[in-house]
Amino acid sequence: MRWLFALLLVWLALPALADDGARSALATVDLAGSSLTAEGRDRGRPRPMELRLTISQPVPYRVYFLDGPPRLVVDFREIDFSGTRAGDLPGRELVPALRWGRFRSGWSRLVMELPGPYALRTAVQRPAEGGAGGALVKLRIEPVDATEFVTRGNALSALWDLPKPAEVTPLPPRRTGRRPLRVAIDPGHGGHDPGAQVGAIYEAAVLLGFARELTEILTRAGFEVVATRKDDSFIPLERRMTIARTAQADLFISLHADALPAGEAAGLSIYVWNPQADDRATRELATRHDRADLLAGLDLSGTDDQIADVLMDLARTETHPRSQAFAKFAVSELNRAGIGMHSRPVRGAAFSVLKSPDIPSVLIELGFLTDAGDRANLFDPDWRARTAQALARAISLWAQDDAARAALSRR
Ligand SMILES: [Zn+2]
Repeated sequence: MRWLFALLLVWLALPALADDGARSALATVDLAGSSLTAEGRDRGRPRPMELRLTISQPVPYRVYFLDGPPRLVVDFREIDFSGTRAGDLPGRELVPALRWGRFRSGWSRLVMELPGPYALRTAVQRPAEGGAGGALVKLRIEPVDATEFVTRGNALSALWDLPKPAEVTPLPPRRTGRRPLRVAIDPGHGGHDPGAQVGAIYEAAVLLGFARELTEILTRAGFEVVATRKDDSFIPLERRMTIARTAQADLFISLHADALPAGEAAGLSIYVWNPQADDRATRELATRHDRADLLAGLDLSGTDDQIADVLMDLARTETHPRSQAFAKFAVSELNRAGIGMHSRPVRGAAFSVLKSPDIPSVLIELGFLTDAGDRANLFDPDWRARTAQALARAISLWAQDDAARAALSRR
């Protein structure tokens, strides 16, 4: 019966507060009063652990587990994690990975990768020592056999409203020229997923900055821009595609500046969808791109069920050449602007975010944050302006070419 305890949804009633207005500010974490500790000395195998988080005020939260890899997920309503790094939590090294950040409006999420299957034994929130209105959240977890590992996927889904799967809107009609071309700009990463990191530099922040500059230039060039992310929040890959589809975007451009995979050369490169891409470096990148979604607790497998595979393939046979055409225009314009690129600038990769069957999509690795030369470019306003302007010209040329081809195919 003990495993039943793990099923309990911890949904705390907030203590009645005299003045509701005083709670308008979000709770923050006090790292000095927070820790992860393990019991026993056997470092070779999973041990019971206790996670203590001291926060500035009590908040509702819920706890559950996910598998593949085993993870403990705590959703808070809501903690402002900005300004605190999960890596600074005392005891962080006891687990393979720990992330936290804003998840979506009104929710923050902590995800702790575990060294094996665990169950929740106790979860309490009580006034913090020292008072001042703070609270201490204390979660105790213990290792269990794989057969006793209860995850939300197999047990809790009925109890807790999972984030809604992306709604599938009908395939948008090809643009008829009556409205400006609409470009979805997708700055990668965000929230608890900072992307590549070099010292105090985070890929997610660098991309947000570039996306803003690119948006400005595209808007001035007469395009409409839809952003999949406007601040430092976590947006699952699937939702990024849904945002573009719902907005009826004509083109989807994902922006990245990852860590340089082993054996890869630096420089800007453009990726288009190719599930057969059999290149270790791009596979490495693809895994890294999807890893944040895994850590965030989203399982991407099966999401394609919503659109019949046949429909997807049919749509892709038309969309894929359009993505490739855009990549070619982009390379040619970037070349003309003197932007240094990878020797094979257009490549195929199985990046999940490129999977839209109906919207031409590319992923641009602006450069690799871990490469000194690329990093210097990313921090050079002139390089960024030239890159953004070249992309604007490429979009314009591609749109004309694309419309001409569409007119031909209708004949
Ligand atoms: Zn990235």
